[in-house]
Amino acid sequence: MKISVIGTGYVGLVSGTCLAEVGHDVICVDIDKDKVDQLKNGKIPIYEPGLEELVLKNVKANKLHFTTNLEDIGDPEVIFFALPTPPDGDGQADLKYVLSAAKDVAKILKSYTVLVNKSTVPVGTSKKVKDVVANETDIEFDVVSNPEFLREGFAVDDFLRADRIVVGTSSTKAREVMKRLYLPFTSEDIPLLLMDEASSEMTKYAANSFLAAKISFMNEIANLCEIVGADVDEVRSGIGADERIGHRFLFPGIGYGGSCFPKDVLALNRIAELNDYDFKILNAVMGVNDRQKHTLINKLKNYYDNELDGKVFALWGLAFKPDTDDIREAPSLIIIEELIKLGAKIKAYDPEAAENVKKIFGDHSLIEFVDNMYDVVKDVDAILIATEWAEFRAPDFARVKNLIKYPIIFDGRNLYDLELMKNEEFHYESIGRKTIVLEKQQV
Ligand code: NAD
Repeated sequence: MKISVIGTGYVGLVSGTCLAEVGHDVICVDIDKDKVDQLKNGKIPIYEPGLEELVLKNVKANKLHFTTNLEDIGDPEVIFFALPTPPDGDGQADLKYVLSAAKDVAKILKSYTVLVNKSTVPVGTSKKVKDVVANETDIEFDVVSNPEFLREGFAVDDFLRADRIVVGTSSTKAREVMKRLYLPFTSEDIPLLLMDEASSEMTKYAANSFLAAKISFMNEIANLCEIVGADVDEVRSGIGADERIGHRFLFPGIGYGGSCFPKDVLALNRIAELNDYDFKILNAVMGVNDRQKHTLINKLKNYYDNELDGKVFALWGLAFKPDTDDIREAPSLIIIEELIKLGAKIKAYDPEAAENVKKIFGDHSLIEFVDNMYDVVKDVDAILIATEWAEFRAPDFARVKNLIKYPIIFDGRNLYDLELMKNEEFHYESIGRKTIVLEKQQV
């Protein structure tokens, strides 16, 4: 099938590439000339495991193309919108990118086309897109909601082997097109769930908000564990063994970030407010997350008796989660901001995300970016861990100890076993677990 994807960011590039991979003929459009030029030259503008290989392969096979010119798409059967929907000043998803692209697309429709919205959008957006397009063209079209559930860091795999594919449309004709489009991706284990537009749009917000709630709930449990002397790891395995709860997404930490959870929880809450519904849980989920992002800073203040001025910390990890260079709403940004305010110096290392953080803090005299996880700990007062990159999971502790000024780790991702930290003689503070204390004279 001939397909076009408007917006070639995380979702658009991964979707377009995977659709080409299963045999569709795909053209991706983006207004960002630099991005399109990079892609045309075989450079991938984002870091996503496995993506580069697939892009190059499908470009070579002539199944995947990139352009800045909407006219180049010709007459595709399906046009995806994978455009940003950031919060507007009010917390609502801002639909300006989606609606303006829909208007542009409407002007170049040539025959019946299915317009598929992959962006995360409020209930009622399909109808808005339909109205905008209908105002511009007499050509027959349908608008379909098809939310995307891929996770950054696993995006290619998630797209090729999704848990489910959700398609919302009341048009029988569009349903048949969508079934044909997704046939290579569906199986007995991967159902195509057909529903109406509103339910499909709501499904995406409900899924992300539920996952965010799981994280905030576990963070609350972790905080309470610290107070009452329980160990959140034990509690986690204790409750995860209950099939109704399950083991996944029960890891406490320093809060969720990224381009989706924060904005989607906020947007769902705003949908509730606009409908005079007081969605109490969502407010709590957001409040807990905001507080949790300050957890490491609070631990530092406590340990150093509020005297952080002049201290130097190594920050391991900047991305909001491992295997991505995405720093949107990353807890590391709050940590950096707070440390700068308190007069501490930060030496930062991340395998992929440093360039993005440099765009925000690059010129600040209190932050320095270092190229590897060992050089960054040289002569620092302590290590702070903000992202659970695999390379941080089993460091050479002896080497770290030789380089660092004091053997102290504040771990926002619970990477290490407490017994190990005791044996390695580190002062070690993590989330929801006992602190391994080294007497101050030892550090
Ligand atoms: P992104 O910012 O990475 O990419 C959006 C792209 O659209 C950018 O490259 C931008 O230049 C381009 N663009 C903007 N206006 C355009 C126009 N008029 N024509 C062509 N291109 C245009 O965003 P993303 O992370 O891919 O997210 C897109 C949507 O998918 C959002 O609604 C998001 O909530 C949702 N989503 C994201 C993820 C994720 O993990 N990133 C997962 C699921 C759903």
